[in-house]
Amino acid sequence: MGTAYLYALGLILLMGLGTLATTLRQAGPYGRHMTEAQRGTMPALPAWLLFESPQWFAFALTFWLLAPPAAGPAAPMLFIFCLWQAHYTYRGLIYPLRMRDRHRRFPLIAVVMGFSFNLLNGFANAYDVGHAGHLMSADWFADPRFLAGLVVAVIGWLVNFQADSILIKLRADGFTGYRVPRGGAFRYVSAANYFGEIVFWAGFALMCWTWAGLVFLLFTMANLMPRAVAHHRWYRREFPDYPKSRRAVIPGLL
Ligand code: NDP
Repeated sequence: MGTAYLYALGLILLMGLGTLATTLRQAGPYGRHMTEAQRGTMPALPAWLLFESPQWFAFALTFWLLAPPAAGPAAPMLFIFCLWQAHYTYRGLIYPLRMRDRHRRFPLIAVVMGFSFNLLNGFANAYDVGHAGHLMSADWFADPRFLAGLVVAVIGWLVNFQADSILIKLRADGFTGYRVPRGGAFRYVSAANYFGEIVFWAGFALMCWTWAGLVFLLFTMANLMPRAVAHHRWYRREFPDYPKSRRAVIPGLL
């Protein structure tokens, strides 16, 4: 199982590089970046449910059945298991159900890519959490890396949740187009949801202190930062009065 874990980490890194190379040229073809010519699509709601599902089932199967912790699941491992499952219950189930526009479509190719990546990522993170020596003792709860990571992760999650909510409210009246989002971290960046997401996974990587946590953070940055820049350029093109001081994804920097 250890060899499969190493292959999974290597593949995730390669997928991150491939994603970076392609999204720097062309943002992933879903949402506002999907053209009329896009072939092979499915309704967005089941698409989200489907491609996010491996994050919880691959993580759970690996952690409890395929490669469980040798000495049983220690408290820090259980804490991280619950945090992961809670996040993906939100992202893979509650978030898609909160989305208002039920007519939106999602490209099949993105579903296949997302499903494959999430399968590898759920497996690699669960394996690492179940085998990390430092997570075997409750002393880890008092470690500065855990405490700082937890604070950063909670802040990131709240920023992401607030941004998701602001975007959802923009279509609360049945409108299906795009409006300029305002409030929360949108005061500083065009992609406040991606900013929160990146901060959340940075906190998660710090509190787990595992290779898979770090590699997932790098993948998330490679995936979301070029897409945030594409969103930012799109807003500036479509809305002539778009706030000039707003950056793409990192307040004050990018
Ligand atoms: P987007 O910002 O592209 O879109 C989010 C939702 O809001 C979509 O339903 C979109 O509609 C709608 N929306 C966006 N901007 C506007 C606007 N200006 N006016 C009205 N509606 C708007 O985010 P994603 O769909 O890429 O991501 C959704 C969530 O998933 C985010 O929280 C993100 O952080 C997370 N995510 C995490 C990833 C990771 O690697 N960990 C990867 C991808 C996403 P439409 O679809 O029609 O554009």
